[in-house]
Amino acid sequence: MFVLDSHCDTPSQILRLRDLSLDNDHAHVDFPKLARGGVDGAFFAIYVPASLGQVEAEAYADLLLERLNVTMEANQDKAAYAQTSDQAFLNKEKGLFSVFIGLENGSPLGTSLEKLQKYYDQGVRYMTLCHSADNEICDSCAAAKRWGGLSPFGREVVREMNRLGMLIDVSHISDDSFYDVIRHSSKPVVATHSCCRALASHPRNMTDDMIKALAAAGGVIQINFYPFFLDDGFRKVFDASGLAEKEHIEAEFIKDPADEKKRQSWNQVQDEIQSLQRPSYTRIVDHIDHVVSLVGIDHVGLGSDFDGIEVTPEGMEDISKFSLVFDEMRRRGYTEEDIEKVAGGNFFRVFDQVTA
Ligand SMILES: [Zn+2]
Repeated sequence: MFVLDSHCDTPSQILRLRDLSLDNDHAHVDFPKLARGGVDGAFFAIYVPASLGQVEAEAYADLLLERLNVTMEANQDKAAYAQTSDQAFLNKEKGLFSVFIGLENGSPLGTSLEKLQKYYDQGVRYMTLCHSADNEICDSCAAAKRWGGLSPFGREVVREMNRLGMLIDVSHISDDSFYDVIRHSSKPVVATHSCCRALASHPRNMTDDMIKALAAAGGVIQINFYPFFLDDGFRKVFDASGLAEKEHIEAEFIKDPADEKKRQSWNQVQDEIQSLQRPSYTRIVDHIDHVVSLVGIDHVGLGSDFDGIEVTPEGMEDISKFSLVFDEMRRRGYTEEDIEKVAGGNFFRVFDQVTA
């Protein structure tokens, strides 16, 4: 069995001076934790904030890619890049963790298909079409809906990603954008880190109808671990806590990651958020159950969003606990074959079809 997490925001943490070779505190992902968690590979997201214009966005993505390359160079005894499932299985045989690269936000492209080719050539194998704002490609689920779905350029991007063999990630895009992607893509697509809206009403989550359309096209939804996406109850708990007022402390730390006091302050806020009543990690399996009840076992997997979330489910504090999801699935009567599919088999089925 190959255990894959399809979405970790770890490159952003490298920018905040995390050394992935160490077992860091206040961290979700590093090589020691991945090893303890039995995780064999992950997509590391090159996350580009929607606030950046095209030129800045491209420079930021390039910086993250460069820092990730330096990290990989320094950890050759522990990890290696993979761009296909075959490479990942080979890495596993050699005892190496596989890092796949995903680009989270198409904003660095501006309106250039050549830039898509550039990121493909640098090893990027999925692209999340947008983040928290509409961009030149499509509308975001969190924004004003500039295009009413995919833009004309966005349709070209879909066609070009199909041609290149780059996986289309529909997490973060608006419902209309999602249906446009399903209409225009000749290959199956993936939601690399999304939950079910039937269980938690957040607009980042997918409706039952969207999950059915995704599965009918051969795709997969990878369940996100963010408490706000898992359970509406956490929104109420968080809002009542008053901790939203302290979120600017993270922005201050990000601006100045070498400042130890700012790091401590942000760590303390994270501790306060983690001390709230959080949904149990078994809620992740509730979302798996829901997808299975809609479309069967072949269309669901795991994309934690670790290192991109400031709070985790109870019992799933970092990636070293990843396999507890599989234990809970066993308790609920899933077979080993089912678990293998959720752990990575389903994602790789789609990935192989797209990259072939
Ligand atoms: Zn995301």
